[in-house]
Amino acid sequence: MAEFSIIDRYFKQKHAYQSNINLGIGDDSALITPPVDQQLVICTDTLVAGRHFPLSTTAHAIGWKSVAVNLSDLAAMGATPHSILLAITLPEVDEPWLDEFCQGLFACCSSHQVELIGGDTTQGPHLTISVTALGWVPQGQAITRSGAQVGDYIVVSGQIGDAAYGLQHLQHPLQHRLDYPTPRCELGKHLLGLASSMIDLSDGLIQDLQHILNASHVGAMIQLEHLPIDKALRSLSFQEQWQYALAGGDDYELCFTISPENYQKICLEETIPLTIVGHIESNLGLRLTYKDKLQSLNFHGYQHFA
Ligand code: ADP
Ligand code: MG
Repeated sequence: MAEFSIIDRYFKQKHAYQSNINLGIGDDSALITPPVDQQLVICTDTLVAGRHFPLSTTAHAIGWKSVAVNLSDLAAMGATPHSILLAITLPEVDEPWLDEFCQGLFACCSSHQVELIGGDTTQGPHLTISVTALGWVPQGQAITRSGAQVGDYIVVSGQIGDAAYGLQHLQHPLQHRLDYPTPRCELGKHLLGLASSMIDLSDGLIQDLQHILNASHVGAMIQLEHLPIDKALRSLSFQEQWQYALAGGDDYELCFTISPENYQKICLEETIPLTIVGHIESNLGLRLTYKDKLQSLNFHGYQHFA
């Protein structure tokens, strides 16, 4: 099966969630009429087989995750997702694999009314998937990493450490959290005008929160007894639990800062658990306490080339 047949057969879909897509797959570029008074929010993330997911990962999960990690980046700005582009490098044309991959990819797209509007299909030695996601945010309202204020709460959605635990215990139910991250788009959008800064958790809370602290020129205190950790991890030693929760990657939950006053204004129809894990301080650096006792822990999140 050749390049253009693959594109036609697998990637060209008939969804029409977004009426402002004037031209999708099939020309040299796609055309979109931007909504008035909105800013384009755009990001890209690449998944390399064996690096970003275990080689045993199903094609369906790879498809889902390659979209989800990008929608998570949009969510972290408070954006509403709109469309994606897909650049895929395949070692070979394996039709059942492509079928499953597309089912996973379009399942994640559909759950957020996102359309695939273009991309690139190439042959190469390693399976590599690069998705670019586009979304919209009201002019000037995007939630960046740089707005955290002294006294703000630090809040995380869902549970943290699940995906890292799932990676270490591949048949455990928490593997689902590794394979099928849930981009928190509704929450992200809801926090427009409320949260002072936000990031999505891809590399572990310590490393990702540090990006907020650096960008905002503030410090933080985290109370370890408040970390939202799954019951499966609770039987482990504190050191191990904290290692997963603070330095484990791939959770794709949101971490945001918010004034106590604005925190009271959050009202979510769909119930995404939120946990206050600490607060922002003027002293630079990150302090970790367990029941008021300062803890010195030495681990850090994932970095390429480190
Ligand atoms: P060009 O050679 O002009 O760059 P291509 O031949 O690469 O165009 O692609 C033809 C059309 O198919 C384009 O609209 C492109 O966006 C789309 N396309 C190619 N690969 C993919 C893919 N993996 N997913 C979605 N659309 C794709
Ligand atoms: Mg062209």
